[in-house]
Amino acid sequence: MIQIDLTGQVAVVTGGSSGIGLATAELFLRAGASVAICGRDSERLAQAEASLKAQFPDAKLLAQTCDVLDADEVNAFAQAVQTRFGRTDMLVNNAGQGRVSTFVDTTDDAWREELDLKYFSVIRPTRAFLPMLRDASGSDNTAAVVCVNSLLALQPEPHMVATSSARAGVLSLIKSLAVELAPQRIRVNSILIGIVESGQWRRRFAKEAQPGQNWEDWTAELARKKNIPLGRFGRPEEAAQALFYLATTLSSYTTGSHIDVSGGVARHV
Ligand code: NDP
Repeated sequence: MIQIDLTGQVAVVTGGSSGIGLATAELFLRAGASVAICGRDSERLAQAEASLKAQFPDAKLLAQTCDVLDADEVNAFAQAVQTRFGRTDMLVNNAGQGRVSTFVDTTDDAWREELDLKYFSVIRPTRAFLPMLRDASGSDNTAAVVCVNSLLALQPEPHMVATSSARAGVLSLIKSLAVELAPQRIRVNSILIGIVESGQWRRRFAKEAQPGQNWEDWTAELARKKNIPLGRFGRPEEAAQALFYLATTLSSYTTGSHIDVSGGVARHV
């Protein structure tokens, strides 16, 4: 395995209290980075903080409640990172969730909510952390923004019409950002994920599973129904590894790009 030492660097992961974000925070801590995570639910955040501290007792870790849709809270989070660590080298825009609804089922308010979440979960943290990313950026393009996006951006699903549409817009936004920020040596990339085991899916399992059906059977059946070529859901750490690659100088000549982490679901060439 390629080793990379991130001692002295700072990684910020929005939505770092669960699933993909938490797995990503673990990878950064393992590589020696200082890490800041946020989420809305203080209890979930405290649990994540405790689990990270148990694994990495010497971790330089900041956990702060913050809704990425609230500009004041995002600015306060960025200020807290500045005060505690003095810099930000890597920003992972991960916070969010999907919306299951068809066109007929989606109200105007639901459309607005979904567009708001998908766009502003990228726009607000990127804007708030940009000055620090600029200052941190070095000649080898060390500063990076990485966004968790979905394969729905390229392969829309009618049962997730608003999410698919917003995801496509965000893919376009990331491309523009990559070009605008390139002269400042800040790289901007994304991952396009299929289905990854996480808090969202655990919650759907709790609601939708048949009595007596366990998690393994439920996910295997869904993977079959959804024709996932690799035959299973992805694991949070598999998405995290792609995020880690794009956030670090392992990908120093890559910007405006994306990595597919969908288990082969992407059908385009
Ligand atoms: P989880 O539910 O496990 O984690 C989501 C994280 O985001 C939690 O820490 C949650 O904490 C946080 N979060 C959600 N909304 C906000 C908000 N407004 N402000 C701050 N934090 C927020 O799910 P995943 O790990 O699966 O999700 C990670 C990302 O991956 C999401 O953007 C999701 O849409 C995307 N994705 C996931 C897929 C999958 O199959 N798992 C598929 C496609 C995309 P809290 O609720 O306490 O705020």
